[in-house]
Amino acid sequence: MATNSKIEWTEQTWNPVTGCTKVSPGCKHCYAEVMAKRLQAMGVPGYEHGFAKVSLMEERLNQPRYRKKPTVFFVNSMSDLFHEDVPDSFIDQVLNTIEACPQHAFQVLTKRALRMRQYFETRTVPDNAWLGVSVEDKSYGKPRIGELQKIHAKTRFLSVEPLLEDLGQLPLIGIAWVIVGGESGSKARPMKESWAVNIKRQCLANGVDFFFKQWGTWGQDGVKRSKAANGRTLAGQTWDMIPAIVVC
Ligand code: SF4
Repeated sequence: MATNSKIEWTEQTWNPVTGCTKVSPGCKHCYAEVMAKRLQAMGVPGYEHGFAKVSLMEERLNQPRYRKKPTVFFVNSMSDLFHEDVPDSFIDQVLNTIEACPQHAFQVLTKRALRMRQYFETRTVPDNAWLGVSVEDKSYGKPRIGELQKIHAKTRFLSVEPLLEDLGQLPLIGIAWVIVGGESGSKARPMKESWAVNIKRQCLANGVDFFFKQWGTWGQDGVKRSKAANGRTLAGQTWDMIPAIVVC
């Protein structure tokens, strides 16, 4: 079933696909991999094959249709919808559900930006599908923004998490929302305050909604401690901006 999420920028997760493989430095300490191994050990359905094998969960395709209350869904928190092992015909079915549920918003986030762009060359993006790419660094992350900008979509967003270096100038034309966060976990890589502040400044200057998700394991002061203790404030305040959700 779709489940309530602890992720700060969404309401529920919907996982019609589980399992993934790593493509870039942002994947190094993949949260989904850790969770999938845990769920596999617990015998939870959908995780029988562990993480490295992509599983298509046909029985989950219709879950959002049963929920009447308008909800923001994060699609595939445990995978990547545009993974090479997910056939176009299955992505079609995911999009069919999104189109059939105009009361909800669906956040589709990928590191496979090229495939997402190619997929939408032959299919219109529903207005309630927010398309996003992960941007963890300059060499792997920033080129994804260009692919995203080529897609005709009502709401485009960037997930800059884990932020691994100063990204410099970001191309923000056509981008509605930017989420920034540091990495969690015992092996987390640190994020510098100046890197996050640089992105916040550009978002505010360009009218882009800015969401600061977390510091993660390394605090604003460069000290390692719990994620909760490090908190969610940047430059003295919380940043929870989110694009307006128009419910049909
Ligand atoms: S693309 Fe996402 S889900 Fe897949 S390995 Fe990388 S971080 Fe994990």
